[in-house]
Amino acid sequence: MEHTRCLIIGSGPAGYTAGIYSGRADLKPILYQGEQPGGQLTITTEIENFPGYPEGIGGNAMMDDLRRQAERFNCDIRTGYIVRADLSQRPFHCTDDHGVEIEAETLIVATGASAKWIGLESERRFYGEGVSACATCDGPFYKNQVVAVVGGGDTACEEAAYLATLCAKVYLVHRRDELRASKAMQHRVLTNPKIEMCWNSRISQILGTDLDGVTGIELEDTKTGAKSQREVTGVFVAIGHQPNTAFLNGQLDLDPQGYIKVQSPSSATSVPGVFAAGDVCDPNYRQAIVAAGRGCIAAMDVERFLQEN
Ligand code: FAD
Ligand code: NAP
Repeated sequence: MEHTRCLIIGSGPAGYTAGIYSGRADLKPILYQGEQPGGQLTITTEIENFPGYPEGIGGNAMMDDLRRQAERFNCDIRTGYIVRADLSQRPFHCTDDHGVEIEAETLIVATGASAKWIGLESERRFYGEGVSACATCDGPFYKNQVVAVVGGGDTACEEAAYLATLCAKVYLVHRRDELRASKAMQHRVLTNPKIEMCWNSRISQILGTDLDGVTGIELEDTKTGAKSQREVTGVFVAIGHQPNTAFLNGQLDLDPQGYIKVQSPSSATSVPGVFAAGDVCDPNYRQAIVAAGRGCIAAMDVERFLQEN
């Protein structure tokens, strides 16, 4: 059984920043990268809004920088993922996918949240090449173009309203004839002349070529089955996110949407000694710089907790 003062689970901006801070504090942290080393940003192309890169930077390159910075301060970065965590007593017992057991005095959970996808083959094909789950991140690449947003909740409406400030036109594709979003958000999209509703519709295919990327969508009427097409160059899927907490098996308090509850502004969770950072506890912002900031907070909370306990 290995022992560590601080085990960090996740290698996105939150996990690596926690690695940098706890490494510099001489806690000799162990960090598990999980199935997606570098986190969500490794599946996007250009990051234009992370401070410090005036010309923008590729997602992989940026996450590589963060990893090397954490390694510089002796963060022990490992491949593999945590499959089980027993939080019933300190030190916590965690097991990785190879059966390695680790005893951790403190835990930082930075496992992110995954966007839900429609599940189409063509959606996977054009992922990052016209298909996105983040308008704030990728919207500026579609200035003056025509795009589609899928979903009927607050996120879809917010994304549609934001995209309408940049794009020539936005189709909002919803599977029912009524939005789930709050009344205020509904008003915002329904009165926006740049947003056209596609009611009772689902995307049955995303159209395009390897050369041109996305060129359109095929819509299917959910009531009649009738098919029609729209020309778009971007598709934004906004049908919700799923925080990655399954391995915790209900041992931490979650909010109704499944995000880990933290005692904000601290990163403390419902179990003393377990801290959370980044998208896994953030239903609101879900941006890399925010996740990095929360990773810093979690590492500082760990340092204080270890001094006091
Ligand atoms: P993530 O980056 O999601 O990382 C989670 C980590 O946890 C991963 O490394 C994963 O492997 C690991 N993990 C999960 N489960 C386990 C486990 N059981 N054991 C071990 N490890 C585990 N934000 C911006 O600010 N600017 C952008 O331009 C931008 N573009 C984006 C483009 C796309 C396509 C997407 C999907 C998101 C984009 N975002 C952008 C949002 C940004 O990526 C997230 O806000 C940020 O990555 C969240 O960081 P995080 O560290 O909380 O989690
Ligand atoms: P959500 O409220 O769960 O809405 C998801 C939407 O996607 C629903 O309209 C749903 O349709 C649709 N959908 C789900 N699966 C689908 C599929 N497979 N194919 C097509 N459509 C699908 O999620 P959210 O919009 O991300 O919001 C999550 C929470 O955050 C909510 O509580 C929301 O209020 C909150 N939020 C608030 C704000 C704000 O206040 N500014 C902004 C964003 C989010 P149905 O309606 O038919 O189920």
